[in-house]
Amino acid sequence: MTKKLSKRLIRASQGAVFALGAPLGWLLIRYFQEFAIWEELANYAGVYLYMLIGTTITFSCFGWYVGHNEGLSDELAIKDHLTGLYNLRYFQNRLAEEVASSKRHQIPLSLIIYDIDYFKQVNDLYGHPVGDKVLIAISDAAQNNLRSSEVIARVGGEEFAVLLPFCSKEHAIQTAERIRETVSQVCIPIANQAVITRTISLGVASLHKDENCDSLYRRADTALYQAKNSGRNKVIVSTT
Ligand code: GH3
Ligand code: MG
Ligand code: MG
Repeated sequence: MTKKLSKRLIRASQGAVFALGAPLGWLLIRYFQEFAIWEELANYAGVYLYMLIGTTITFSCFGWYVGHNEGLSDELAIKDHLTGLYNLRYFQNRLAEEVASSKRHQIPLSLIIYDIDYFKQVNDLYGHPVGDKVLIAISDAAQNNLRSSEVIARVGGEEFAVLLPFCSKEHAIQTAERIRETVSQVCIPIANQAVITRTISLGVASLHKDENCDSLYRRADTALYQAKNSGRNKVIVSTT
């Protein structure tokens, strides 16, 4: 069951429980007024049933609606508003969790960090809104290339990170190459039948035994800058 659905179901059930308060509360009042409870129920069965069903439906629907809105705001808190990818805060928390779990269970973990090449030119030549369109298209293309267990986030203006749980260095390099290839084939149409294409530079690092998340991130970042400095549009793996 998805997190969103379970939140709605929990709130709807809480609503149903609250709804019991109406008939039970009224019954309690009648009890303190010294009415015989069973007689009261027998005489006004229809009214109590109506109260029970009516309030249960109303409160459950309200609970469902509250759960739905909670799900939306939870999502807003962890997603980047432009690209729909995870945001930096979520990524940092997830990275810490995955590093801890990877060390505990001794399973591999890899990280890719990538940055769009010469992205400033897009803004300078075509304007910021077109730049945004490029960011969205490149994000969609990369995300569609990943498995659901892999976590992609926008960690800076035009910088992204992909966390690959259970993934060895060799497999991470293949994934990075696939993302690089996919992004380079994205064509964003602009006016006069022209299109924009962009490349990316990527850094890859795999978790060492006694390493923390800062060190893993730093090594992937250093590899990314080596990719930038050695011509761009390439994958560099951290060797340290
Ligand atoms: P490099 O290959 O070295 O990465 O060059 P670059 O031009 O991509 O890098 P630089 O850091 O010089 O420029 C990044 C640009 O990204 C500058 C900034 O205006 C732009 N940018 C950052 N966030 C956004 C955004 O949300 N939307 C748009 N349209 N542009 C953005
Ligand atoms: Mg860039
Ligand atoms: Mg950058």
